[in-house]
Amino acid sequence: VHFIPDNLAAYDSRGMAFTIEERQAMGIHGLLPPRVKSQEEQVELCKLSIERYEDPLNKYIYLMGLLDRNEHLFYRFVGENVADTMPIVYTPTVGLACQKFGLVYRRPRGLFITIHDKGHVYDILKNWPETDVRAIVVTDGERILGLGDLGACGMGIPVGKLSLYTALAGIKPHQCLPITLDVGTNNQTMLDDPLYIGLRQRRVRGAEYDEFIDEFMQAVVKRFGQNCLIQFEDFANANAFRLLEKYRGRYCTFNDDIQGTAAVAVAGLIASLRITNKRLSDNVFVFQGAGEASLGIAELCVMAMKNEGTSDADARSKIWMVDSKGLIVKNRPEGGLNEHKEKFAQNCSPIRTLAEVVNVAKPSVLIGAAAIGGAFTADILRAMGELNARPVVFALSNPTSKAECTAEEAYANTDDRAIFASGSPFPEYRAKDGRVLRPGQGNNAYIFPGLALGVLCAGIVDISEDFMLLAAEALAEIVSQDSLDHGSLYPPLAEIQECSVKIAKKVLEHAYRTGKASVQPQPLDAEAFIRAQMYDVRYAAALPPRYAWPAPAHAPA
Ligand code: NAP
Ligand code: MN
Repeated sequence: VHFIPDNLAAYDSRGMAFTIEERQAMGIHGLLPPRVKSQEEQVELCKLSIERYEDPLNKYIYLMGLLDRNEHLFYRFVGENVADTMPIVYTPTVGLACQKFGLVYRRPRGLFITIHDKGHVYDILKNWPETDVRAIVVTDGERILGLGDLGACGMGIPVGKLSLYTALAGIKPHQCLPITLDVGTNNQTMLDDPLYIGLRQRRVRGAEYDEFIDEFMQAVVKRFGQNCLIQFEDFANANAFRLLEKYRGRYCTFNDDIQGTAAVAVAGLIASLRITNKRLSDNVFVFQGAGEASLGIAELCVMAMKNEGTSDADARSKIWMVDSKGLIVKNRPEGGLNEHKEKFAQNCSPIRTLAEVVNVAKPSVLIGAAAIGGAFTADILRAMGELNARPVVFALSNPTSKAECTAEEAYANTDDRAIFASGSPFPEYRAKDGRVLRPGQGNNAYIFPGLALGVLCAGIVDISEDFMLLAAEALAEIVSQDSLDHGSLYPPLAEIQECSVKIAKKVLEHAYRTGKASVQPQPLDAEAFIRAQMYDVRYAAALPPRYAWPAPAHAPA
C-alpha cells in the first residue's frame, strides 16, 4: 500500500533512481549519493545482494525488506528472475519462513482477523487503507504446505501467493490483500513458542467457526463488492472441501489447493500425452494421498476423460487412490471414506501398501500428494519402469523434504525413462546418454495468477469448473517440444508471465462465450485489453508535468 510519501519516505521508495531534477524539486537533494541509477542497475544490485546470503531464510528476509522499501523494484526483480526468486517467496523457503514467522517478522503486511473479532469483521476490513481491493488470498493456517497447522504464522502463504499475483500476472499490488483468519492453533510447538505471533489458544471449531467464516465472506462483499476474488489457501482438508461447496457459485471464489493444483497437474498430464502418444483415458492412475490435491486432480481428470468421450464410470474406474488407511475400496472395513473419496472406491479387496497397489493396479501414472517424504521407494519406481515404456511420476508434496522422491531417484530407477514433475524444484539431471533433463515444477503458480487475471479482467463472479480445465489445456498447449525433449512438462519459469497472459486471455474469452463475464462491453482485442490493465514495474515520473505561464499582465493604472 502506498501512503502519500513525506520527503523521507519518497527518498526511500526508489532510492538512487530519482533524477537530479526530481531530487531538487522534492527537497531531497543531497540526501542521496550523487550518482543517478537506472532501475536496471538497481536490479543488478539486488542480484549481487541476494547472492551474498547463503541461508535461504536470509534471502527471504532480504526480499521482504525490498518489498517494503521499493515495491516496483521488488516486482521487477522477482518477475525477471522467477526461477531464482520463486523458491524463496514461495515453496520451499516460504515454508521455513512460516515456521519461523515470529523470528523473521519485520513489518506488518496484510490483515489479521481473529475469532475474538467475530461481529466486527467489517470494521477490520475498513481499517485497510485501500478501497479498491480486487483479490484476497485467505488462510486459517491449518494446513500450511505439507507442514500442517502453523496457526497465524501461515500469513507467509497469502503474502507469498499475492506477491506472485503481481510478479507473474501483473495484478496491481494495491488491489491485493492477504488475510489470515486466526481461530487459534492446535500446534503445541507454536503455542509454547515465546515468539509465536497469533492467539495463544486451541482452534475454535463447529458453529462458531462457520459463523465467523460466513461473516468474513459477507464483510468482504460489503466492503469490496461481489466481484472481489477470494482465493482460499491452505485450509485443512475437511474445511477446504466444505467451504468450497458452500461458497462456490455464491461468491467469486476458488480453492487453490483443490482446484489450482488440479489444473496444474492435469496440464502436466495432458502435456505428457504428447510423449506417450496416448489419450488421457488410456492411462491408469494411482494416487498416494486422497486429500485436497489428489481428489482435485482426480475429479478434473474425470472431467477431461469425459471430454474424450469416456463415461463417468469408466473414467473413475481408471483411478486408484491410497489414503492413510490403504487403498480406497467399497465398504472398506477400516472406514475413513467421505463422499469425495467414495466416488473413487474400487471394487476390490482391501490393499494396505502403496507397493502392493502398484502391483495390482499396474498404473501408467503415479501421483504423490500425501506429504509423506520418500513414499516412492526405489522398488515402487522400478515397478513403474517395468510396467511402462515411459512411466509418469509426479511427486507433488511440498516442501522438498516431503517430496515422494527426488527427480534423480525417479530417473535413476527407471533407466531415465520416467516423465517426472514435482511440487518443489529439483536441480537438472544428466541422463546416462548425456542428455540434460530439467524436470518441470508442477507449481500452481503456472495457473492461479493467470486465472485470477482473467477473472478480474472479465469480471467473472462464478468461477465454475470449466474454467479450471480450460486453464489446464491452455497451459499444456504452451509447452514446447524443446521442453518435452528436456524432460519438462511445463514451460520454463522464465516464460511464466507470458503463460499468465495467455491463460487470462482464454479465461476471458470463455467467460464472454458462456455469459459469465460482467465487464461490458466485450473488449475487441482481448490481449491488448488485459495487458493495458497490468501493473507496470517501471517507475512512473515522480513529478507532475510542469509548464510556463506568460508574465503577468500589468494591472490597469
Ligand atoms: P490433505 O488434504 O491433508 O491430504 C493429505 C492426504 O494424504 C490424505 O488423504 C491423507 O489420508 C493422506 N495420507 C496421510 N498419510 C498417508 C500415508 N501414510 N499413506 C497414504 N496416504 C496418506 O493435503 P493436500 O492439500 O492434499 O496436500 C498434500 C500435499 O500435497 C502437501 O505436501 C502439499 O504441499 C502438496 N501440494 C502440492 C501442490 C503442487 O505441487 N502443485 C499443490 C497442492 C498441494 P487420510 O485422508 O486418510 O487422512
Ligand atoms: Mn496451498
